Amino acid sequence: PRGTTVLEAPDIARALTRIAHEITERNKGAADVVLLGIPTRGVPLARRLAGRLAEIEPTYDTGAVGELDVTMYRDDLRRHPTRAVGATRIPGSVDGRTVVLVDDVLFSGRTIRAALDALNDVGRPRAVQLAALVDRGHRELPIRADYVGKNLPTSRSERISVHLTETDGEDSVTISEY
Ligand code: 5GP
Ligand code: MG
Repeated sequence: PRGTTVLEAPDIARALTRIAHEITERNKGAADVVLLGIPTRGVPLARRLAGRLAEIEPTYDTGAVGELDVTMYRDDLRRHPTRAVGATRIPGSVDGRTVVLVDDVLFSGRTIRAALDALNDVGRPRAVQLAALVDRGHRELPIRADYVGKNLPTSRSERISVHLTETDGEDSVTISEY
């Protein structure tokens, strides 16, 4: 089933614009901000945020965006042996900079825990923050997002579908029974 639409394209656009403003407010600009998207859909979201940071802060380097594959750092790797699904591309060094991790949906928090492990092998940022387009609740670890597009309280049996133009040909977020 396609489910119920909870965010349409303009809602996603507004949420990303707001998050970009929040990032510049929190960090007093964006000069030291590196955006790292978590594959798959965190990557286009990170790129969009970089574009918006550049609109807000014309000196922002839109090259300060990359991707962090967390597959090999997951705590369920032994139960589900798998090959890396994404790539890790770090734009320069993260040492001393503020890394904003970007993902589409935040759920148990285990992906972000793995991302922190992966990041630890890459360098030593001065701070790490988290942006998620959707926070659907059900955390299993002490992890929270600094920037949230939309809080969507869900039941465990529900599933959020995030569609982005870059990966799916359209922008929308829907919710359905699993
Ligand atoms: P967590 O590791 O926090 O349990 O789950 C977050 C990761 O799994 C994210 O990378 C996200 O893409 C994916 N994920 C978890 N729940 C959902 C969901 O309901 N919908 C979608 N699209 N992704 C989810
Ligand atoms: Mg994901």
